[in-house]
Amino acid sequence: MNQEDKEKDYFESPIHLEYQYTAGAATTRFLNKVKEGKLVGQECPKCKAVYVPPRGSCPRDGIATNREVELVDQGCIESFTIVHIPIPGNPIVPPYVCAMIRLDGANISFLHLVDGIKLTDIRIGMRVKAVWKPKSEWRHSLENIKWFIPTDEPDVDVTKLRFKPE
Ligand SMILES: [Zn+2]
Repeated sequence: MNQEDKEKDYFESPIHLEYQYTAGAATTRFLNKVKEGKLVGQECPKCKAVYVPPRGSCPRDGIATNREVELVDQGCIESFTIVHIPIPGNPIVPPYVCAMIRLDGANISFLHLVDGIKLTDIRIGMRVKAVWKPKSEWRHSLENIKWFIPTDEPDVDVTKLRFKPE
């Protein structure tokens, strides 16, 4: 083994995989709304938690969530990471921010990109809003949202977002 081989900790190998994803009833309804530019969660009839994206049931109570709740496309950063290492096949060039976004009125967060801010200024609790792609590009995907950008609103104390069932 020569020195060049010792320095490699991976190798590239062409591979092609095809996936078929069955979304299920709740996610299908959610993605149909996303295609219309709406973010619609579901509320648990017992504890009133709002899940977005919805999965069709409340993991706390083990019952179906069937009441739909339309949410605004803004919220706050619940947590984040700054990605510095390129991911093979990912067209996004580092560094960039991946954050857990908690929409206003939701009780869970989802992963998305944050842009429009210096990396050193990103912080937990920062208020953000969605930047949507042009409507002509909308499909059944949260990628209809390009990323979230900061608003000028005061930060949120995320410790107060902890869920307390009614
Ligand atoms: Zn519940």
